[in-house]
Amino acid sequence: MKTSKKAEIDAKIKENVVTSGTIFIIKFADILNANNSSPEVISHYMQRVLHSIFFIGYVSKPRVYPEEFIPEKILESFKEKFPGPFKDYLSHVPHQTPYSILLEFMSENKNCNEPKILMQELWEINKSLWKTDTNIGYQPVANDFTATVIAYSCYGDINGNNNVNSAYGSSISCKGRVPRRIMIHISVLQVWDLAISYAVCQEGDSPALVFPNQVCCKAYNFHCNSNCFLEVPPCAKCMKSFRGVKFNPPCENPDDDPTWPYGNCAENESLNKLLKGCQDLRSRILTEKNIQGKQMDIIEIETMFKKEKEEKLKKNLKNLLGSQNITLRKDNRKLQSFQPM
Ligand SMILES: [Zn+2]
Repeated sequence: MKTSKKAEIDAKIKENVVTSGTIFIIKFADILNANNSSPEVISHYMQRVLHSIFFIGYVSKPRVYPEEFIPEKILESFKEKFPGPFKDYLSHVPHQTPYSILLEFMSENKNCNEPKILMQELWEINKSLWKTDTNIGYQPVANDFTATVIAYSCYGDINGNNNVNSAYGSSISCKGRVPRRIMIHISVLQVWDLAISYAVCQEGDSPALVFPNQVCCKAYNFHCNSNCFLEVPPCAKCMKSFRGVKFNPPCENPDDDPTWPYGNCAENESLNKLLKGCQDLRSRILTEKNIQGKQMDIIEIETMFKKEKEEKLKKNLKNLLGSQNITLRKDNRKLQSFQPM
């Protein structure tokens, strides 16, 4: 490719990342303020979103620096109010993408028993996060940080409405192959329940994880050019990874192999949160039978993950971060996670 053409494409990609980040930060500040949240809550969530956007900007190609995301007139006040993210974006990793943090705030602060009510609110937020270009038929020209799929999982007596545990999750919401792979690796190594990490690492191979059959999962897709959010079936990767889960609607094309990596889908984060919030469910997780007819329980799954998967994943992540000029401290093999002050 000619150098000038490549420079033009790079400039466009960078412009999209910057615009996406800026719109996201401004909108998120509005959401926090409109909710009458306390200064402590605003600071907690805002620091996490800023740090996540700054980190993803830095590992994107072309690179984006924190100062480029914040409009000049508010830059100094942001640095004063939220110094942590400006200081730690190179040395600490985020645990979630910006949209996943937004979803956490929404699900903790809104009435979330009925997923459709939350989806309607998220739909309104997404509409204001998307910068559209009507010349190309309402296609979004930015927002790289908006999740297009949200999953809702629940466990328990869903008919009687008693003792139902539920959790929401979003798809990995950042663009670019490397940033996405980095965020999936961080999730697998440091964020998700090891049962989910195991399932993601199996990449559809047997023995898959088996959930008890009282677990249901529903996903919603947000399309910029349609007027609503739609219920969508899981992809073949999720269906193969999470056996026993009652997906509604069910998987339509179990033989298709989608292009996105294992770990990318909203189902992972949602089922992870469901497991973390419910010890009873956790204790009932098994794998399928292996060729000797044996099933692993949760303790054996964790041991197997640590013994056979963890080291390789750490090495991959170190290489991915190294490729973006982020080096881990030698004395701290476990990545430092960002903590809001
Ligand atoms: Zn999927």
